Amino acid sequence: MIRSIETGTNNEILRTKSEPVAKVTREIRKLARDMKATIGPAGGMGLAAPQIGEHVRMILITIPGEYYDDTGFEGCQPDKHMILINPEITRFGADQCSFEEGCLSLPDYFADVVRPCEVEFTALDEKGNEIGGEATGIFARILQHEIDHLDGILFDDHVLNKRKKDPSKIYI
Ligand code: ZN
Repeated sequence: MIRSIETGTNNEILRTKSEPVAKVTREIRKLARDMKATIGPAGGMGLAAPQIGEHVRMILITIPGEYYDDTGFEGCQPDKHMILINPEITRFGADQCSFEEGCLSLPDYFADVVRPCEVEFTALDEKGNEIGGEATGIFARILQHEIDHLDGILFDDHVLNKRKKDPSKIYI
C-alpha cells in the first residue's frame, strides 16, 4: 500500500525517536512492502519508517544504477530495494565528504551536508539475517541520512548557519 509521507522540519512525527524491532514479524514484513510501494512513486533513494508515521527502526535504501559506482557493500545491488532493520553505524571514518542532500520529508529543499565519507554498519535484513560491513560513496551517505530519521534528526539539522532570506538584503 502506498502511504503518505510526513513532511515539515517541525513535524512531531518526524522528530520522534523510533523503537528497535524486537522480531521480524508479519507486520514488519508488511511495513517493508508498504515502504517499497511508497518510495517508487515518491522518487527517493531512501525512506525511513517514521517518514510514513511508523516509529520502528527500519529503513529502505535504493541505489539507482546511475549512482551505483563504489558503494563498498556487496549486498547493495543497483535499483534493488534494500530493507535494513535496526541499522546501526558501528564506526565513522575520519574523512569528511560534502554532498548535496534532499529529503522526501523536506520537499523542494536541498543543501550541501558534510558527513563522514565511510562508515561501518550492522543491521538485519528482511529475513532477520545479520548483515553489515563497510559502506562508502552514496550508500554511506544514504545510510547516515536514513538512520538520522530514526533518531528524529533531519538533514537540515546538519546545515550550519541556516538563515531565512532577508528580502531587504541583496545576496550574491
Ligand atoms: Zn530524509
